[in-house]
Amino acid sequence: MNDIYDIAIIGGGPAGLSAALTARIRGKKVALFEHLDFSRKLQRAHDVDNYLGMPHRTGTDIMREMADHALAHEPDVIREKVISVFPGKKNFTIACKEEMYTARTVILATGVTSGALFEGEKDLLGKGVSYCATCDGMFFRGKTVAVISYGKEGEADAAYLADLCKEVYYLPQYRDEMNLRADNIIVENVMPRRIEGQNKTEKLITSKGEMHVDGVFIIRESDPVENLVRGLSLDGTHIAVDRQMRTNINGLYACGDCTGKPYQVSKAVGEGLVAALSAVEYLHEQASTAEA
Ligand SMILES: Cc1cc2nc3c(=O)[nH]c(=O)nc-3n(C[C@H](O)[C@H](O)[C@H](O)COP(=O)(O)OP(=O)(O)OC[C@H]3O[C@@H](n4cnc5c(N)ncnc54)[C@H](O)[C@@H]3O)c2cc1C
Repeated sequence: MNDIYDIAIIGGGPAGLSAALTARIRGKKVALFEHLDFSRKLQRAHDVDNYLGMPHRTGTDIMREMADHALAHEPDVIREKVISVFPGKKNFTIACKEEMYTARTVILATGVTSGALFEGEKDLLGKGVSYCATCDGMFFRGKTVAVISYGKEGEADAAYLADLCKEVYYLPQYRDEMNLRADNIIVENVMPRRIEGQNKTEKLITSKGEMHVDGVFIIRESDPVENLVRGLSLDGTHIAVDRQMRTNINGLYACGDCTGKPYQVSKAVGEGLVAALSAVEYLHEQASTAEA
């Protein structure tokens, strides 16, 4: 059983790192979940010239300095993808691929899903569409699946699925060299268009035709936020928050791109600070209520 954290922060981009720094300065026990590099998104920026006090910097430089600064304050960095957050009576349970964690408060800082969802993705989620090969792979034993991946990490998912499934179509949406060995992985350099099926996934339509599949695994940097926490109120595709970065769920906060536009580093950093201070205040209120 892992320790109970005061604050679990999901996402290690500018928003999550800013929240982690503030929460640690306030003496809280912090878990920072980041499954990839710290903000691959910002690391793609060649020249950032609108972050005050840091003119003309690459996104990679800014991210490295932000991460060095926040991590020097020693939050527990957990290199896992959070699959679900379950609000309980007193604490939150944070479910990752391999392990479960417990925290008194949670801050969502997951960024936004790049691009629009595929047609059919939302309707067929849980009916063949999945964001987690480790969690759902066993349901596709002996079947044919497709993996649409926006980064190299999808190769490990494809390899895992290849051990279980008859065939795995792999659709890389990135340019890095691939390292896929299994005979039953078929690489298709095509653009996915939509997922079709009557109550279960049946076909993946691509730029070059269609594939008959039983499942489609989509591996992105950030999944749609509504899948992370059941009952979370949204404002369009973003998480609805007030000025204290509170969501509709007690003890759950959100900050950065996932709360809406403008998608900018300054906004993410500012909101991360506010979310952490709000979580700290909430923890103090809970402690005084328990003592009274
Ligand atoms: C090419 C490009 C250029 C840009 N240029 C500028 C610019 O010049 N100026 C500017 O201000 N902004 C710029 N931006 C926007 C800026 O990058 C974002 O606004 C900023 O990174 C948002 O920070 P964030 O922390 O909210 O989200 P992100 O930076 O997206 O970070 C979210 C993090 O959460 C992690 N994560 C997501 N889901 C999970 C999960 N379930 N479990 C664990 N970890 C998870 C991701 O891996 C990621 O590291 C640019 C963006 C791009 C793509």
